Amino acid sequence: MIVVMNSGYTKQEMDEIVEHIKSKGVKIDVCEGSAKCVIGIIGDTTNIDSDEILSFRYVDKVLKVQEPFKKANRLFKAESTVIDVEGSKIGGNALGIIAGPCSVESEEQIIGIARSVKKSGANFLRGGAFKPRTSPYSFQGMEMEGLKLLKLAKQETGLPIVTELMSTDYIDKFVDEVDVIQIGARNMQNFDLLKQVGKTDKPILLKRGLSATIEEWLMSAEYIMAGGNENVILCERGIRTFETYTRNTLDLSAIPIVKRLSHLPVIVDPSHASGDWRLVEPMSKAAILAGCDGLMIEVHNNPQNALCDGQQSIKPNKFDSLMEKVKILGEIEGKTI
Ligand code: PEP
Ligand code: MN
Repeated sequence: MIVVMNSGYTKQEMDEIVEHIKSKGVKIDVCEGSAKCVIGIIGDTTNIDSDEILSFRYVDKVLKVQEPFKKANRLFKAESTVIDVEGSKIGGNALGIIAGPCSVESEEQIIGIARSVKKSGANFLRGGAFKPRTSPYSFQGMEMEGLKLLKLAKQETGLPIVTELMSTDYIDKFVDEVDVIQIGARNMQNFDLLKQVGKTDKPILLKRGLSATIEEWLMSAEYIMAGGNENVILCERGIRTFETYTRNTLDLSAIPIVKRLSHLPVIVDPSHASGDWRLVEPMSKAAILAGCDGLMIEVHNNPQNALCDGQQSIKPNKFDSLMEKVKILGEIEGKTI
C-alpha cells in the first residue's frame, strides 16, 4: 500500500500520519520528493482502512500495490536507484561497464586484462574466484588466492571488483575485500545467502536465475532489500529455452519491463546469455538500446586456453572496438560511462 502526500505539511502533521499507520503493525518507508511525498507501507495491510488515511490533511491518494515486491517497486520510489562505487556508477544516466575474465587464473592474466579493459573504458573489473561449475571435475576457481589477485588488480588499475559469492562461509571476507558481491544465476533463490547479503551494506549484483520469471527475480531482490541492503543491481543473463544455437536466450524485453516495475538498475550479461563470443557485440548493442544500465562482459587475452568460458569471451581488442560503439549508443539513450 502506498500513501501519496501533497507538499505543505508540517513535521507534526507528518508524524501523526506515520504514527497512525505504524499503529497498525506495519513498517513504513518514507520517500520525500520536492512536490510529493510517498509513504510505502510494508507488511500485512489488511487492518488499514484507506478512508481513514484519506481523512488526514495533505493525503492525496492511497494506492494498493498489486505486486508482491515492495521495496524494489518503482511505486515506492519513483527515482531510479544509482549505485556508486568509489565514483564508478550504475543506474540513472550512468552506464556501468563490468569487464574481465570468467575466472581469475593468474596474476599476469588478471592484471593484464584489468589494465586493457580499463584503457578501453570499463569502470568495473569482473573475475570469478569461486566458480559455480556444472561438473565437480571442472576448474573450481582459485578461491582465496583469486580474491588476493583481484585486490592486486584493483591496486594496479583502481577498478572496483565484482566477484561471485557462493557460500555464506566467506561473507565476512567478501565484505572486507570485494566492492560488488555477485550472486550467480544458480543461487538466485538461495534464500539464506540472500538474507545474509541483505545484512551487509555492499552493492549486490543479482543475476537472474536460469529459469526464473521476472517476478521471482524481483522477489529475490526484495529478500536482500528486506534485510536492509537496498544497493541491488539486477543482471539479465539469459534464460533457458528450447533453442540450442545459444547457451541461453537473452530476454531483452526484461529490461524495459523491470525498469517500469522497479527503480533498481538493470544490466545485461551478453556473454552468459549467448555463450558465443560472436554474439557478444550484437547483443550488447541491442541491450543498450533496450535501455539497460550497463553490461557485464567476459574478456580474455587468450580465450582458446581459458580455464572457463573461453568460447564466449572476447579479446581485449574486440572489447576496445565494442566500447566505442557502446559509448555512441549510450549517448542515444542519454547515458554516459
Ligand atoms: C559468472 O558471471 O561468472 C557466472 C557464473 O554467471 P551466471 O551465474 O550468470 O551463470
Ligand atoms: Mn563465465
